[in-house]
Amino acid sequence: MTRAPINKIIPLSLVDGPGNRTSIFLQGCNLACAYCHNPETQRLCNHCGICVSGCPSGALSIARGRVYWDPAVCISCDQCITVCPSFASPRVRNMTPDEVFEEVQKNIPFIRGITVSGGECTLYPNFIKELFAKARENGLTCLIDSNGTTDFTRFPELMEMSQGVMLDVKAWDEEVYKKLTGGPTNSVVKKNLKYLADCNKLEELRIVCLPGEVDAEAVISGIAETIGGKVSSVKLKLIKFRRYGVRGRLQNTPTPDDEYMQELLQLAIGMGFEKAIII
Ligand code: SF4
Ligand code: SF4
Repeated sequence: MTRAPINKIIPLSLVDGPGNRTSIFLQGCNLACAYCHNPETQRLCNHCGICVSGCPSGALSIARGRVYWDPAVCISCDQCITVCPSFASPRVRNMTPDEVFEEVQKNIPFIRGITVSGGECTLYPNFIKELFAKARENGLTCLIDSNGTTDFTRFPELMEMSQGVMLDVKAWDEEVYKKLTGGPTNSVVKKNLKYLADCNKLEELRIVCLPGEVDAEAVISGIAETIGGKVSSVKLKLIKFRRYGVRGRLQNTPTPDDEYMQELLQLAIGMGFEKAIII
């Protein structure tokens, strides 16, 4: 059976789609965004062993060139992910869809659905499909939280199984996008934006706002032009950059002020986004 690296499973989340949901975070990403607030999800552990000796509870050990994590004694202090030079975590579990669903099942009386996130969860489309099949059999809705770099038109079955996609549109100008994300191009994100809008699978749009790094005004205009009449029904979250968890060149950058965020909100409302909010 398919396996995927799982960074964590949050049993009950109110911020990953409508209603109460179980959120599953897959490890590994094809981007390296300068403002990433969970950079420890970006790469897979290379078993270098650097984090092992600093673990205060002895939850980490190394044997035969591999690092092992003992969840029974881990105190979740995050010391290991703080010292990891590779944007990885030793606490990742390679799980099957059945194993993940066993954990989801415990929450069924309290949740409306599941959300797969990351990292970039769409790097594991077959795993997601198998997990969604189980979730749907049990009456749960299924959402994908994505950076939009996987061409969704190639996965019609996955789209059919998913209630929708929460899509990050990180930058509109290609050069701004490359500098911010380290990614090659945002052409697939733009293609997905149109495709998801056309097939009514655009659950939510997100823009992290940081003047000087993100061309948020151009993103808002570009989305409006691309999705046309759908602007009035799609949720748009204007997310204030916050430096919590950020590593690298933006780790000391301040949050944009309220005046700037209000200007963006007014711009979005003026373009017809009736469901635009600042968070
Ligand atoms: S979070 Fe990491 S460093 Fe802290 S106890 Fe757990 S394994 Fe050890
Ligand atoms: S989590 Fe990071 S520091 Fe620890 S063994 Fe893996 S790559 Fe090395």
